[in-house]
Amino acid sequence: MPEGPSVRKFQLLTSPFVGQVVAKVGGSSRKISVNDLNALRLQDSQVHGKNLYLAFVAAEGPLGPTAEEETVLRREAASGASSPAQEGQEQVCTPQTHPQDEELQELQPSRPEVPDAAEGPGNWLRFHFGLFGSVRANEFSRAKKANKRGDWKDPVPRLVLHFESGGFLVFYNCRMHWCSSPRANPASDILSVEFHRGQALDALRAPIPICYTLLDQRYFSGLGNIIKNEILYLAKIHPLTQGSLLALSDLEHLLDYAIQFSFDWLYSKLHDKRLHLQIYQKKQCPLGHTVMKGTLGPSNSFKRLTWWCPRCQPAVLSGDRDLSPVTE
Ligand SMILES: [Zn+2]
Repeated sequence: MPEGPSVRKFQLLTSPFVGQVVAKVGGSSRKISVNDLNALRLQDSQVHGKNLYLAFVAAEGPLGPTAEEETVLRREAASGASSPAQEGQEQVCTPQTHPQDEELQELQPSRPEVPDAAEGPGNWLRFHFGLFGSVRANEFSRAKKANKRGDWKDPVPRLVLHFESGGFLVFYNCRMHWCSSPRANPASDILSVEFHRGQALDALRAPIPICYTLLDQRYFSGLGNIIKNEILYLAKIHPLTQGSLLALSDLEHLLDYAIQFSFDWLYSKLHDKRLHLQIYQKKQCPLGHTVMKGTLGPSNSFKRLTWWCPRCQPAVLSGDRDLSPVTE
C-alpha cells in the first residue's frame, strides 16, 4: 500500500479542489453510494499517516457563505489576528511541510484553515489505498500494458469527482468509508512537523525487534515497508536487533534517517523523480555484498518481506537471541 509520502502527494493533488462543489460523480465503488456526493462541496482535505480524508458539506446553505465569500473571509482571517477557529477542535491537523523545504511549501496550495470543520457526524470520507492505489487530478490512469488476453484495459476508478470548475479527481484501488472526524495523531506522523521525537525514541527502545516497532502505526504513522528496509540499511542496523540493545545515538540516527528518507521520497514524488533504493528488493547492497531476505514480523501479527545486508547490518546479539530469518 502507498506509504506516507505517496498519500501526502495525493492530498496535495486534492487541495486545489477544496472549496469547490461536486458537479458530477462516477466510479465503481459499492462501499459507499457515490451519488451521495453530488452537489456537495469539498470542504477540507487532510492526510494522516497512510490515510487521506476529505470533508464534504452541503453546497448551498441559506445561511452559509458561498465558497467565494468564504475564501475572502478566510483570507481576511488569515491576514488578521490569530483566528479563534482552531479552538475546541480536536485533531485538526493541517498538512505539514518540511520547514526547510520552501519548494514543497510553494507546492502546498494556499489551503485555507477551515473554521467550521466540526460539522455533523459522518461528513469525512476516509480513503485507505490498496497496493496500486492512487489519486489523479484531471487525468485518468491508462493501461501501461496489455492484459493476458491482449486487451489494453484502463484501470477502473473507484470514484471520480467532477467539479464545477471543470476539473476532476480520480481515485483508484482504495477503500472508502464515512467517518465523523479524521483519526489523527500528528505526534506520530513521520511527515508532520508535530512529529514527536521523544515519543518515537521511547517506542524504539522497546525490547523487541526494531523492524517490528518501525511498522507500528501507533508510533510511526505513514512509515511502511519500503521506508523500514531502507532506513535500517542506512543506519546499519540489523532488522531483528532489539531496540533496547541499541545506543541512544543509534536510535537517534535511525530516526533522522526515517524523517530524511520520508521527505526525500515525498520530494521525488512531487518532482516526478525516481527514488533510488539501496536495499529494498535488491540482491546486492551498494557495496556488492549479498543481501538476505526474510519474512519478519511479530508472531501474532502481519509479517513483511525484509531485506538486509549481513555485513553492513551485523546482528547485535544478546546472549542466546536467534537472529535467523523466518523465511516462508
Ligand atoms: Zn553490504
